[in-house]
Amino acid sequence: MRKPITDLIHHPYVPPAKFGSPQVGVYKASTVFFADVAAMRARDWKTKAGYTYGLHGTPTTFTLEERLATLEGGTECLLVPSGLAAIALVSFALLKSGDEVLIPDNAYGPNKALANGELANFGITHKLYDAMNPADLAAKLSERTKLVWVEAAGSVTMEFPDLPALAKICRDRGVIVALDNTWGAGLAFAPFDFNGSGQGVDISIQALTKYPSGGGDVLMGSVTTRDERLHRAIKLTHMRMGYGIGVGDVETVLRSLPSVALRYAAHDRSARELALWLEDRAEIAQVLHPALESSPGHANWLRLCGAADLAAGLFSVVFDSRYGTEQVDRFCDSLSLFRLGYSWGGPISLVVPYDIGLMRDPGVAHWPHKGTLVRFSIGLEDVDDLRADLEQALAVL
Ligand SMILES: *Cc1c(COP(=O)(O)O)cnc(C)c1O
Repeated sequence: MRKPITDLIHHPYVPPAKFGSPQVGVYKASTVFFADVAAMRARDWKTKAGYTYGLHGTPTTFTLEERLATLEGGTECLLVPSGLAAIALVSFALLKSGDEVLIPDNAYGPNKALANGELANFGITHKLYDAMNPADLAAKLSERTKLVWVEAAGSVTMEFPDLPALAKICRDRGVIVALDNTWGAGLAFAPFDFNGSGQGVDISIQALTKYPSGGGDVLMGSVTTRDERLHRAIKLTHMRMGYGIGVGDVETVLRSLPSVALRYAAHDRSARELALWLEDRAEIAQVLHPALESSPGHANWLRLCGAADLAAGLFSVVFDSRYGTEQVDRFCDSLSLFRLGYSWGGPISLVVPYDIGLMRDPGVAHWPHKGTLVRFSIGLEDVDDLRADLEQALAVL
């Protein structure tokens, strides 16, 4: 007679199949069972035809991957534990000692830090290029260039590059181009099909941490492709680096994803309203928001995102040079609805002061401003309340 504890662990009950509900099941697993030894020996972790081990996917992670691939217009997607891990995965998968990677000088900072750190340690060199000058990218490509990163809008300074032109330069030279599509979120433009041209980037990564999660409570990233061979190469590195994802977090993103377009549009609407309002304020020298005519690369934004008319909920302002760091810090401290904190895409509006001088390579000249810069991420609060908060904080200047 088996003891109850054994029966408890090897319980015969199997719930009836065909359970239907709005959310997919949350399958948590390290171990995945095989029916017999033959099935185990035939295992193939490289495809979604079956299951082999929790690290390589469960019904829950496969479902989110498929939905994200659809959102971005790709064919395959891989989940990773953060947006930065998505950047690292692409670089580690495609680069080897002796190769070079080109990164825009206004890229998400940690992408450049990875190139300065681990990539350099592994004998991979990098160059920074001016994303607003396609000729600079063309001039910096060499036979050693195996990967080019692009990003729109640029990190913190929000310049909007001519993505189709940058991608075409890479395509003509047979170099893989990877987009950090966190800002666009698969909504502002189609990364694999710019303006219905059928042409786009080779790889699109996102920090799902931002709009897809939408709660400020999840770290996750995705790597989406539209080429089976490229996907296989990245999947191999994904497996070997052991990028595990918490299925509870996947559940959270699956729950948020259906509302991503609504939230994105709402963030965008409020951000544009506040950006326009700040443009008229005497304290502000410039508002950096790609949908504003005065912003660098506005024409590029209009060509690529004009049809969707979407521009996320992020913008930066440069304070008039008569205000020093101390005063601008005081402005940030005086805000009450806007909280001080990194990341973005959640319901709470955020503010971060940046010292651009420390963030850009002096050799890549495209930052003409002198004043202190502050970046806002506009949340889902009432826009009049946010404006009132900005107004009372400007008064302390
Ligand atoms: C936040 C962010 C990342 C990194 O995402 P994490 O999940 O925080 O690692 C990468 N790129 C861009 C543009 C981002 O805004």
